[in-house]
Amino acid sequence: MKPILLVTGGSRGIGAATARLAAARGYRVCLGYRSDAASADAVVADIARSGGEALAVQADVASEADVRRLFETVDARLGHLSALVNNAGILERQTTLVNIDAARLQRVLAANVIGSFLCAREAVRRMSTRLGGAGGAIVNVSSMAARLGSPGEYVDYAASKGAIDAMTIGLAKEVAAEGIRVNAVRPGVIYTGIHASGGEPGRVDRVKSAVPMQRGGRPEEVAQAILWLLSDEASYSTGTFIDVSGGR
Ligand code: NAP
Repeated sequence: MKPILLVTGGSRGIGAATARLAAARGYRVCLGYRSDAASADAVVADIARSGGEALAVQADVASEADVRRLFETVDARLGHLSALVNNAGILERQTTLVNIDAARLQRVLAANVIGSFLCAREAVRRMSTRLGGAGGAIVNVSSMAARLGSPGEYVDYAASKGAIDAMTIGLAKEVAAEGIRVNAVRPGVIYTGIHASGGEPGRVDRVKSAVPMQRGGRPEEVAQAILWLLSDEASYSTGTFIDVSGGR
């Protein structure tokens, strides 16, 4: 039986690369997205053309009702979930902390932190051997921002990724004896559309000279690390992190 993977934010960037690579490696994939149906459908079509199986589901991870519906759709359309990649995430316009209001904090924390917690909860409910499941693997997509703090750009975003790091460590320990591994990747600067949300589409090229490898990363390079952490090759790794950041 093919393993079943849910990737949140699978319509673009790192999530889309992860969905494509997972399908090529034999996963049946559900990719979640918030609003860009055309991009999500294009990833599904790509996967089908390559002989894989995928399904796109609109769901805002910040909404508990949407998250429940997302997982119930996976149950009904694909079957028993084996793996989750908590990838959906946002950042907002570059600014300093003194300019960040509560509404922005709520948006960023709702998508990046609450969304990841809700999805992890639904995955654990399905995977835990203690609850009758068959085990599984979760990979959280954090960021090097959790370590670097993103001064002058988005300290709120960096702090949300710090929360993801703490959740990765804590949840990994909570469910280690229930057949579930929980790990994370910390991408550095990767060529995706997320930088346009910060108001600087060309950000990767501006900052790449500060990366020891002197270049930005590709979404596929992050996907490779995610797929390894999901795989049986990582069978004794939990609560750990892979920095995919060119040495930054
Ligand atoms: P991206 O190209 O902007 O894609 C973001 C994806 O997340 C899209 O599929 C988007 O759906 C989805 N999404 C956003 N908010 C959502 C919500 N509330 N509910 C459901 N889906 C939502 O971003 P990316 O660069 O690939 O980033 C993916 C992850 O990597 C994020 O967690 C990000 O923080 C992290 N990361 C990225 C970088 C980088 O340099 N790119 C570095 C470190 C960490 P729609 O298409 O429908 O909007």
